Amino acid sequence: MPLETWIMQGSWAFLDDYPSDAFIDKMEEAGARHLAIGAPFPVDPDPGHYGGGIAGCPVPAAVADRKAQIDAFLAAAGRRSIHIYAYGANPHMSGDKAVYDQLPSKQVLHADGSRHGVASYWGACCNGSEFLPYYLGRVRDIHAAYPQVEGFLNDGPEFGYEIAFDFMADNLNLFGCFGSCCAARSRQLACDFAAFERAALDLHGWFHAIAAPDVERVLDHPADAAAGLAAAAGNEEIAAWLRFKQDAVVSHIERLCAGVKAVDPRLQMGVGSRLPAFTPLTGYDLTRLAPAADFLLPKIYLWMGGVDGLYGTVYRWVRTLREWNPGIGEEMLFRLVYGLFGFELPGARSLLELRRHVEPRFADSIELTYLGAPFPADFFSGVVAAQVRAMIDQVGEPSRVRPWLHTHHGGRALPPDEIDRTLTAAAAAGIETYLNYNPIEPGNWEVAVKHGRKEE
Ligand SMILES: [Zn+2]
Repeated sequence: MPLETWIMQGSWAFLDDYPSDAFIDKMEEAGARHLAIGAPFPVDPDPGHYGGGIAGCPVPAAVADRKAQIDAFLAAAGRRSIHIYAYGANPHMSGDKAVYDQLPSKQVLHADGSRHGVASYWGACCNGSEFLPYYLGRVRDIHAAYPQVEGFLNDGPEFGYEIAFDFMADNLNLFGCFGSCCAARSRQLACDFAAFERAALDLHGWFHAIAAPDVERVLDHPADAAAGLAAAAGNEEIAAWLRFKQDAVVSHIERLCAGVKAVDPRLQMGVGSRLPAFTPLTGYDLTRLAPAADFLLPKIYLWMGGVDGLYGTVYRWVRTLREWNPGIGEEMLFRLVYGLFGFELPGARSLLELRRHVEPRFADSIELTYLGAPFPADFFSGVVAAQVRAMIDQVGEPSRVRPWLHTHHGGRALPPDEIDRTLTAAAAAGIETYLNYNPIEPGNWEVAVKHGRKEE
């Protein structure tokens, strides 16, 4: 089935490559009528728009310098009824590190009980009290200056789902956040934060000393993986800690969406998440978030290597558990990881097999490569399709599931053929629309045009 295609550009640089009407012509080749901008808008902050201790920040010079160019493009988009969405209201898109660093960053708990802050451009915690007032101030600024903007796309903050330490500055680490931000939120939710910390340390301990019978206990547990982990590690609070992550994110997203609707009830809110395999760890329960958001954007990020890709995440989990448990066979660790995430990569029961899919010198790097064996056909028809069915089931309405699709964040880029297979599998599994965040290059664009829904 052809797909309603939304386009996202990660910066305003596309205006250097295309005259305004030529870019809109390009979008229309794929039937796209919606454009999301992943960059700040050229808006001077109005301190009156900010309800917290941060009164905005200046627009980055690189954006300010383009104001006339941007305004001309938006005028052209308006004339041609292109719908404009802003991703650049997200606090991590402000381009002002000094201001962003005023937001408390996530604190990751290490196995020895020490806490380490996440030094990332994207490391703020959703439970920081300044986060939402700052975010909504940015929304008000954009809405006041550009009433043409119809809605906003949110992306995080989220809790982590990776266990390899020092990866992405620990921004995606499972063992966050244990900062005062989350302690305060836990008190509001009448939770025992000290018990969560003991639970996380017990889980650390279990991950570092896995015994084969324990793996079977996790896999055989009649409830979900979180309950299985809690039972195997001998601390029921592990499941409660993961539920707290969900409660915190649901609370944050509900307040964010309500805050945007209070600015103008016509504004649309799209909320990003990871794939359903990972959302139980990140706190993004799509079923609980669906009533708050207008649509959901689970990220179909599949690459090997790089950051936050599905193959790469399996690889990092197994490699890390192998380092921590040299006495346990790889095959058993793969069974554990597949059991936790609820999918199995076809034909992949060893790290060697996974490394086939990325040029060797990039296997443990986050740099970009185009070389590596293709993913098997039944990965797309099996794993990708099942993840898409799960996101639709969890949201309840296919029209409100608009997956975010990208070729890579470093690692082995998906070539056009794999993007084509992904969209074919996702369409067969029931999606009606998606957000195309792929670089606009001839091969990728051919796929976008192939799958785009053209007007009659
Ligand atoms: Zn926190």
